[in-house]
Amino acid sequence: MTEHLSEQIEKTERPALLEISDLWVQYRAGGEIVQAVNGVSFQLHERQTLALVGETGAGKTTIAKAIMGILPDPPAKVVGGEILLDGDDMLKMKKDRLRKIRGARISMIFQDPMTALSPVYTIGNQIEEAYLEHFNVSRAEARKRTVELLNMVGISEERYGEYPHQFSGGMRQRVVIAIALACNPNILIADEPTTALDVTIQAQVLDLIYRLKEQNGTSMILITHDLGIVAENCDDVAIVYAGEIVEQGTKEHIFNETAHPYTKGLFGALPDMAGEDEKLHPIAGLPPSPSNLPTGCKFHPHCPNACSRCEKEAPPMTEISAGHYVRCFLAQEEI
Ligand code: SF4
Repeated sequence: MTEHLSEQIEKTERPALLEISDLWVQYRAGGEIVQAVNGVSFQLHERQTLALVGETGAGKTTIAKAIMGILPDPPAKVVGGEILLDGDDMLKMKKDRLRKIRGARISMIFQDPMTALSPVYTIGNQIEEAYLEHFNVSRAEARKRTVELLNMVGISEERYGEYPHQFSGGMRQRVVIAIALACNPNILIADEPTTALDVTIQAQVLDLIYRLKEQNGTSMILITHDLGIVAENCDDVAIVYAGEIVEQGTKEHIFNETAHPYTKGLFGALPDMAGEDEKLHPIAGLPPSPSNLPTGCKFHPHCPNACSRCEKEAPPMTEISAGHYVRCFLAQEEI
C-alpha cells in the first residue's frame, strides 16, 4: 500500500466533522419544481480534502449553500435530510447559532471575489469585521489579526486601506481567502475558487489555499469541474450528476478504477497528452434539466451502456470495493 493511500485511509477513519445524510433541495418558482439535490450523502473527516466534481448545474453549489445555511428561501427549500456538524443537525439550528458557526467553524470561498467583497469598504476593514463578528476583542487586536492574515495570503499590510477595485482578480481572491480563514475554521468550502481568475494565477491561488489548509489543519470541500485540480489537491472525490452522487471514493479509485459511465465520460473528454489518441470523446448531449429529470438512472439518456432496466429503475449506491461506491447496475453486476 502506498504511503499516500494509507494516509488517506487514516484520514477517513478519523471521526466525521460533517455528515451530510440524504439531503434533498428543491427550487420552487412559478409552479415549476427544480430538483437540484436528490438524496446526497457524504462525510467530511478531520484534515480531509473532498472534491465535489461535476458539470455546471449538477447541484454542487446548492449543496455548499445548504451546508452554509445561505440558500435563498424562497425559492430554495431543503425538503429532506440532515447536515450534522459534530452530531448536531444544522438544518434544525436557530439562526443565531448558525450565524456563530458560519465564518467561525465553517467558511466558504466563493467563485467570484468581486461579488463576494463589498465595493464600499476597504479590504482591511472587511477582514477585520469578519474577525470582530466572532471574537470579543478590541479594534487594535482585530487590526493585528488582519495584518497577520494579509501577510499570510501575501498582501502587503500597506494595502490595508485600499478598496477591492484597486486589486487584481487574484489579489481580490487572496482577500476572500483571508476573510474565510480569519477565525481559523475547522471546515473550508471552496466553490470553484479559481474559475473567475486569470489562468496564469489559478495555480498560485490554489497553492495558497492548499498550503494554508494544511498549515491550519482545516478540512476542505473543494467544488470544481476540473479533474486536474482534483488530481493535485484532493484525498477523496464525489462525482455529482443531476443532483446525485454517482461515484465516490479515494482519488485512486476515481482516477485508476473508474467505474461509472459518467465518470468515464468526464475522463474521455480530457485530452490524452501521453497516449496516441488525439480525439476527445465528450459525453453526448446535454445534462438533464433538473426540472424534468429522466426516470430510472438519470444518466440513461446519455449512457453508452444503458439497457431497458436503466430506463425504469434507479440504481442504488453500491460499494464495489472497500470505500469505492458507484450508482450503476453495470458496476453492481461486476462485483
Ligand atoms: Fe448507464 Fe445503466 Fe449504469 Fe445508469 S445504471 S450509468 S444507464 S449502465
